[in-house]
Amino acid sequence: MTSSSYACKDYPEMEWCPGTFEATTEQELWSHIELHASVAHGENPADWAAEDRAFLQTLIKQT
Ligand SMILES: [Zn+2]
Repeated sequence: MTSSSYACKDYPEMEWCPGTFEATTEQELWSHIELHASVAHGENPADWAAEDRAFLQTLIKQT
């Protein structure tokens, strides 16, 4: 069983953010990331460009 994790501080200029997320599937992880970005950072994930998501994807770790 693998899990996917994401640490918000890995994102440029988000070093101050303590948010880290872990989920069984990448799909679930994305919902955590999107909810966090929306609640903690006031972002609208619906506005994220494909390049933004591709960059976030590179920050996701499989363990
Ligand atoms: Zn964050």
